[in-house]
Amino acid sequence: MITRRQLLVSTPAAVLGTALASKAASLAAAPLNDARVLDQGAPAAGPFTLPPLGYAVDALEPHIDAQTMTIHHDKHHAAYVNNLNAAVASHADLKQKSVEDLIKGLGAVPDDIRTAVRNNAGGHYNHTLFWKSLKKGGGTPPAGDLAKGITAAFGSFDKMKDQLTAAAMGVFGSGWAWLSADNTGRLVIEATPNQDSPLMRDHTPLLGIDVWEHAYYLKYQNLRKDYVTAIFNVIDWDTVQQRFK
Ligand code: MN
Repeated sequence: MITRRQLLVSTPAAVLGTALASKAASLAAAPLNDARVLDQGAPAAGPFTLPPLGYAVDALEPHIDAQTMTIHHDKHHAAYVNNLNAAVASHADLKQKSVEDLIKGLGAVPDDIRTAVRNNAGGHYNHTLFWKSLKKGGGTPPAGDLAKGITAAFGSFDKMKDQLTAAAMGVFGSGWAWLSADNTGRLVIEATPNQDSPLMRDHTPLLGIDVWEHAYYLKYQNLRKDYVTAIFNVIDWDTVQQRFK
């Protein structure tokens, strides 16, 4: 005679169902600072907050589509903020620091959370800078000191654009291409992997182009070059110029 219990454990579907139910129960019981929950963008209390985008999600159409902007800001950037709050949750000294100071002072961050802080403080800082670097109807080349600095360093605005585009195309995997000022104030084009920041090299980032696939894949799929070409139509060079000052 077969008991009900034996029937359940010997049926693959039932076994799978039991395993899923068990996993769901453990997720439901997980605290809010659990990484599995935070990766899905759930809110977490902490010193760091997601800044608003500053414009409508469709403001940069057709160059950057509304769905990409929504997911990129509301999910990806939110996850960096939440994961950063979780990483520093039990470190009162780190909670007092600015995101810039955390990135510049990674050596002072405990080993067990250093990678989490590097990735998520970097992600939070880079994206905050990124949203502010874009605007509807952007793309007008800068004037003033930034224009002079670009001409001095690269020969012309178009040559700088070519170098920044080449840096963006040269990132293998996920990362960023940057126009930065080095610690002598000279303009440089550089790239960083993952969510690393020029701040980690004692450089000042002026403009970053996000070349993670999440920044462009919904509209451009594998055509990163088309995305990089398009994004120059929405760069707010006035804001970049203000950072240069
Ligand atoms: Mn991104």
